[in-house]
Order: sequence, then structure tokens, then C-alpha cells
Amino acid sequence: MSSRFIFITGGVTSSLGKGLASASLAALLQARGFSVLLRKLDPYLNVDPGTMSPYQHGEVFVTDDGTEADLDLGHYERFSGVEGKSSDYVTTGKIYSTVLSKERRGDYLGATVQVIPHITDEMKRFILSNTEGADFVLCEIGGTVGDIECLPYLEAIRQLRNDLGRDRVMFVHLTLLPYIPTAGELKTKPTQHSVKALLSVGIQADLLLCRCDRPIPVEEKRKLAQFCNVSSDHVIAALDASNIYRVPMQYHAEGFDEQVCRYFGFKDRPVDLTKWKAISHSLDQAKEAVRVAIVGKYVQLPDAYKSLIQALAHGGMASHLKVEIVLVDSEKDKDLEETLSTVDAIVVAGGFGERGVTGKLDTIKIARTKKIPTLGICFGMQLTVIEACRNLLGIETASSTEFGPTNEPAVGLMTEWMDEQGIQKRCAGGDLGGTMRLGAYPCELKADSLIAKTYGVSTISERHRHRYEVNTAYKDRLESVGLTFSGFSPDGTLPETLEYKDHPWFIGVQFHPELKSRPFAPHPLFVGLVNAAYEYQKKPK
Ligand code: GLN
Repeated sequence: MSSRFIFITGGVTSSLGKGLASASLAALLQARGFSVLLRKLDPYLNVDPGTMSPYQHGEVFVTDDGTEADLDLGHYERFSGVEGKSSDYVTTGKIYSTVLSKERRGDYLGATVQVIPHITDEMKRFILSNTEGADFVLCEIGGTVGDIECLPYLEAIRQLRNDLGRDRVMFVHLTLLPYIPTAGELKTKPTQHSVKALLSVGIQADLLLCRCDRPIPVEEKRKLAQFCNVSSDHVIAALDASNIYRVPMQYHAEGFDEQVCRYFGFKDRPVDLTKWKAISHSLDQAKEAVRVAIVGKYVQLPDAYKSLIQALAHGGMASHLKVEIVLVDSEKDKDLEETLSTVDAIVVAGGFGERGVTGKLDTIKIARTKKIPTLGICFGMQLTVIEACRNLLGIETASSTEFGPTNEPAVGLMTEWMDEQGIQKRCAGGDLGGTMRLGAYPCELKADSLIAKTYGVSTISERHRHRYEVNTAYKDRLESVGLTFSGFSPDGTLPETLEYKDHPWFIGVQFHPELKSRPFAPHPLFVGLVNAAYEYQKKPK
């Protein structure tokens, strides 16, 4: 069948969870046997989020094909199991840069290049590209209706409804119904205004998904339907959930997927929610908990560690354990020893730049000497090497060239490597945007290593996002003090994984395993870490 398009916009305020809403609807459509694609169109002018601080938009999610994308693509993958690609994420900046290079090439044949039609046509091209085989394409429009930045996207999707017809396009609008305690009511006015704002650019919402902290009384539903020009069946409550993996079941109970299917004329499609029910059940069963510290410098905004926090939760789900996350500020925590004495495992998170490095190095030393189960991710692995050089080999000035010139570059700028396109070259002072080692690369694991046992296979593929690399010049010396290089790129040149021989569970990885963990396929490294945490907790100290 030709693809149907569902556009998800947001109103009233940001942070309502459009990404989760889109991902949950996609999961429900899959449960009815449809194939789905999920896409996000972000309204900012950065070409991609790669150069943005995590404080701006949270973590940068990376797909197998090396696209640096908004964290919502992580929700999409975790809920739908469909891997994101470069054709699933775009920003206004990228659209403009495509249009401007076409203009320079002379592709517009003398036309005046304008937002309408040139920018909006490029947006439409993006939405319609690479959709073969997808029954439903769910496109989330970033930002909030009413922002100037959103307007070209809204114009593009308004036009698409005319181009494709009502039977192939649906507009879902996510809004907020705030509860006002003094009035004792859920208020509908902000939603009415938001729906009007959409209407003023020619889009009539077909269905309202209303975030609320309590059920919507029938009267309020009727009022919303009447003022917003939708049927009351199309006013769906999106109640706060105790766990995000319960959201699809809640939406289903509210009739969301049924109404969407009816809209498109797919009546009575059987629905199989077995795996979502199983997940709710497994969440209920988790009675015991382990405490895992995430040590990093972006802890003020937990969204900076979105996939990591999810991957740890998946690790717990595999063993019916709750995972309590303790966010530890590697820059500000003045008593790391005390803080880390209260946890059962540690993740030394990825990161960029020298700020907060001392705290991470101290954490690694504590984890190593106190034998606390530890996973060092990307920067965490690089700093593991620096800590070992300094404290085990006595090379006091060992450092990374990321922090400035050094005579002992235990970690150095990666200037050359191979990928599918051939040899990649980089130099100091080059562009920062989109030039890291990005996306999935294979890695060979040494037989008998803890990591090979943890994965249960010897060749893995994991996603990367880094500019620097562990320097193999220090390998023999490091191995002589117990730090084993347990995984390499297939050509044997790039160290990908490390582990301490005399430690119950200490693994460092150059890649980001958290990006590939799913609730239905918890990542082996996180399952391993959580199990090691449980054992550590039970051990007499
Ligand atoms: N800053 C380091 C690098 O660029 C590590 C990056 C990361 O942790 N993702 O290599």
C-alpha cells in the first residue's frame, strides 16, 4: 500500500514528550501488523546537533550510518526496533544548506529563491524520500506551534495534505491540559489557543493527544471536541506514566491506535500487545534494586544521558532488578570516595573537553582500587588509559591531545582511519561539525576476555562518536600492569575495548553501547554491569 503520513505537532509548551508519543503510536501500529518509519524535523539552524552542548538539547543520538541526531531518534529505535538513518532526521539548517548549495550550482535556473516554494519543497522532498515499504511514516515536527521557526515546516505539511489527500495524511496535535488546584479542574483553554494557532496556518488538527495528570472528565472532552473541531473520540488522554514503557499500553487503553486506524479506514485490525504487556509485567516484578552512578559533567540535565539511563534500565529489566541512577557531577562533587561508597556500580560517561576530567580520573582510580564494577564509555575508556599511565606506570604527564600539546599522548587525535567510503583523514584545526569518527564500526574481541564472554560472540558492531583514540604505543606497558586491550578494529590498528585482569568487572569501550540497547533486547554490557552490581552489593564489605 502507499505510505500514510502522520504529522505530530506540539502545542502550549515544549517538553511534552512528542518523541515518546510518536514512538508509542508507532509501536501500536506495529502491533497491528503495519510497518512504520519514524522521522524528526527540527526547526533550528544548526546543520545537525553535533556541535551543540548537551545542555542545549540533551544527548546527541548517533545512528549506524553515522547521522548525529536529536535524542528522540533514540526513543524511536527503542520503541519500534526500526533503525534510524540519515533520511529520518533533518534540521532547518540542513534544509537551508541544501537549498543554498543548489542555488550556487545554478539549479534554480534564474528563479528568486524563497522560503515558499524552495525551502518548503525541500522539506516535502525530505518527508517523501526513502519511504518505500513503510505503511506509516510518522513525522514529528520539533518545537512548539506558534514559534516562528516552525512555520516553514507547518506550511510544508499543510501543502502535503493537499498533495496527497486527506486519506493519506493525518495531523496529531500534542497539547497540555494543566490541572489548576484552586479551580479543581483540568483547563482546556491553552489547548484551544494552540489548536487555533495551528488553524491560522491552515492546519486543522485531526486528533488531540492531551497530556494530563488525571483522566479527562467527559464534559471536558466534549468541550475540547466542540471548540477544537474534532470528534470526542479524537480527544485522547495522554496520562503521566510511571515508566515510559507503559505508555503504549496506556494509549491503547485510551483508543489512540484504534482511532488512527479508523481515520485511515483500517477497521478491525487485530492487535498483538503481548510484548508490551510482558514489559509492564516485568517492571512490576522488579522488587530489588541496584544503585549505579553515572559520573559526568552534564548531570544537571539528565537528558544528556538519555540513552545511557535507558540502557541501564534495560539491563535491570533483563534480571528483574530496578536500577537507581545516581548522577555524580565529576566537576563539583568534592567527596567522590564517599559518594561512590554508596553505589554498586559506576559508569564513567562520555564527554568532551578538559573540564570535569580530574573527577573522572579520581573516580576511575577509586573504581579500580576498590574493585567496584565499572563501565567506561568512550571518554571513560580514554581516561582509564590516562589514569593507568599516571598511577600504575608512573607517567605523570600522560594526557590526551584533546587537552593541549603533551609529551606523553596516551590518547591522541585520530588522523586517519578506514570506513566504507575509504580512507578518512582529519587534521588539527579542521571543521568540528560532522567530522568525528561516527556510526557503526566492527570490532574483534579477544577469546577468553570478559567482554567476549559478556557479549557471547567475537565480532561486534557498535556506534562511535569521537575524535581521539587510545595510543597503542603504551599498550605493552599497560598490559604489563594488568590493563588488557581486549578488542580491536578488524585491521588491528584501533583499540576498541579494554579490561582490568584483576578486577571482577571493569570494562572500557571506545564506542557507545547505550545507543543500541532496547527494552526487548537489553545490551549485554549493561546486563553484565547490572548483574555485577548485584553481586557486588551482596558481597560482605
Ligand atoms: N572527547 C573524546 C573524543 O572526542 C571522547 C568523546 C566521547 O566520549 N564521545 O574522542
